[in-house]
Amino acid sequence: MTTSTTYLRIEHLRKSFGSFTALDDITLEVQEGEFICFLGPSGCGKTTLLRAIAGLEQQEEGGIVQAGRDISVLPPQQRDFGIVFQSYALFPNLNVNENIAYGLANVKMPRREREARVQALLEQIHLPDIGHKFPGQLSGGQQQRVALARALATEPGLLLLDEPLSALDARVRLHLRNEICSLQRKLGITTIMVTHDQDEALTMADRIVVMDHGRIAQVGTPEEIYQQPATEFVARFVGSMNLLPARVLDRHALMLGRKEVQTPIPMPDCADGTLGFRPESVTLHETPWGIDREQHLMMPAKLEQAQFMGAFVRLTMHLDDEVPLLQVDVPVEQHATLVHSPGQPLWLAVHQSALKFYPADTRECMR
Ligand code: ATP
Repeated sequence: MTTSTTYLRIEHLRKSFGSFTALDDITLEVQEGEFICFLGPSGCGKTTLLRAIAGLEQQEEGGIVQAGRDISVLPPQQRDFGIVFQSYALFPNLNVNENIAYGLANVKMPRREREARVQALLEQIHLPDIGHKFPGQLSGGQQQRVALARALATEPGLLLLDEPLSALDARVRLHLRNEICSLQRKLGITTIMVTHDQDEALTMADRIVVMDHGRIAQVGTPEEIYQQPATEFVARFVGSMNLLPARVLDRHALMLGRKEVQTPIPMPDCADGTLGFRPESVTLHETPWGIDREQHLMMPAKLEQAQFMGAFVRLTMHLDDEVPLLQVDVPVEQHATLVHSPGQPLWLAVHQSALKFYPADTRECMR
């Protein structure tokens, strides 16, 4: 059994810009060696939180403890981190060796040792031969790898990554995603990355911190965040969940637009809310007769369009004029045998284990 040690503890952090609250009572623990992603829409406070950890923003309230040391009011140079920004931020007039060694400027180290450290870092980022090149001679992806090497030069205890991949094109981004992950695992360095890209967070993080308006909406593993979104906000932001406004009729019946459906999960005692389920949780049927009503929510719908996505087919289905169109992902073979043409009536079934309900008053998942 592995035991985890808390490496970074953030307690009741608050930060405002004028009358605007950017961080509102943030409390979070990060374990040693963990890869954490701060995920959320633009303006939710994720960069401000990262900058507060680095000492680049000073919070008004709350504290930060790193490796048992209270760093709450220390200036950045007295904290122990390496940082990579979205815009590479390499010095254009220094070559790659000098850029990486810059991180070691304040570290007393014999020249040979310094050169060996820089060369070892170049090898770790798989660019052993570019030490004498200047940033302007490198691609965006190469520059970002050099920025990563520079951030790691002092062997810091904490690596902070502020949207490091967003300036890169899609192919390079995917490649660098894997490289950052394998380097992080190899070094075992506690890492926090800011991103607004849910795919990045889901594929890279050990745990994701979803933020909304300066607050933490949910903390969990990628699986937890995807499968059990705790609030309607998280459900909307992560993945492409179908979210339908619903009126509660009784414990086992809902109105979706003008359609009444029976629910296999008991409804709370409230007037209305939002019903949620993922496109891949829906099964398609020509008739309702074979579907287990005790276990499934069933809806009649009409096909609007089908898009071939390679591994599956994404159907857009019309349930009712008063609710949004539904997305349903079906295996290619099922599409071939069952789906014929736009306007076709089909039955949708969602197993009770895949259903979420967010009452309108709390917006918090009731199961
Ligand atoms: P983005 O992905 O757009 O950077 P974010 O989640 O990282 O979003 P932050 O950069 O942390 O958001 O900013 C949170 C809020 O605080 C935003 O509304 C932003 O305008 C505001 N803000 C950030 N820095 C300052 C500042 N120095 N002065 C005033 N407002 C600021």
